[in-house]
Amino acid sequence: MIIDDQHYDVIIIGTGAGGGTLARKLAPTGKKILLLEQGELIYRESSELMDTEVFKKEQYHAKDAWYDNDGEPFYPQTYYSVGGNTKIWSGVLQRMRERDFEQVQHQDGLSPAWPLKYQDFEPYYTEAEKLYQVHGKVENDPTEPFHSEAYPFPEIAHEPMLESIADI
Ligand SMILES: Cc1cc2nc3c(=O)[nH]c(=O)nc-3n(C[C@H](O)[C@H](O)[C@H](O)COP(=O)(O)OP(=O)(O)OC[C@H]3O[C@@H](n4cnc5c(N)ncnc54)[C@H](O)[C@@H]3O)c2cc1C
Repeated sequence: MIIDDQHYDVIIIGTGAGGGTLARKLAPTGKKILLLEQGELIYRESSELMDTEVFKKEQYHAKDAWYDNDGEPFYPQTYYSVGGNTKIWSGVLQRMRERDFEQVQHQDGLSPAWPLKYQDFEPYYTEAEKLYQVHGKVENDPTEPFHSEAYPFPEIAHEPMLESIADI
C-alpha cells in the first residue's frame, strides 16, 4: 500500500490488545492515527479458530527466536497478526487483585512488587470492563477489591460439562 501523506499525529506500532485499545481510545479525538502491523491478516473470526489449531498444532506460533538476558534463544507462544494475539487468544479476562501488585516469592525466584498499585489502575480496569464487556460475578469473594463503579455485566452460565464440576 502506498501511503502518500506521511504526516500523522500518532503512530501506533502493533494492533494487539495494547495498540488496538489505544487506537479505540484515541479515535474520537480526531487525531490522524497510523496503525502499523507486521503480521498477517487472519480472515477467520477468533471464535472460528479451533483450540487444536492454536495449542496442539501450534499453527499460530511465530517461528523466530527471542533471546533471554544470557543470549539463550527461546520461542514464546506468540503470533504476529492484525489484532495481535487477541486474534488467537482464549478470551479470558482475569480481574486483578490488590495483592497481584505486591512482591511474590515463587519457587523459582522473586517477582518484585510493582511500582504502581491496584488503585492506580482501578479506573482503567473499570473502563475496560465496559469496553471488553467482561462478564463475571463480583459478590461473595473476599479478595474482591474496590471498584469505583459497579461492573455492568453479570456472569454467564457455565457450559453443562463445567456446571457438573462447579456443583461439586
Ligand atoms: C494462545 C494464547 C491464548 C491466550 N489467552 C489469553 C486469555 O485468555 N486471557 C488473557 O488475558 N491473555 C491471553 N493471552 C495473552 C494475550 O493474548 C496477550 O497478553 C495480549 O494479546 C498482549 O497484547 P499486546 O497488545 O501487548 O501484544 P500482542 O497481542 O502480541 O500484539 C502485538 C502486535 O504488534 C506487532 N508488532 C510487534 N512489533 C512490531 C513492529 N516492529 N512493527 C509492526 N508490528 C509489530 C505484532 O506483530 C503483534 O501483532 C493468550 C495468548 C496466547 C498466545
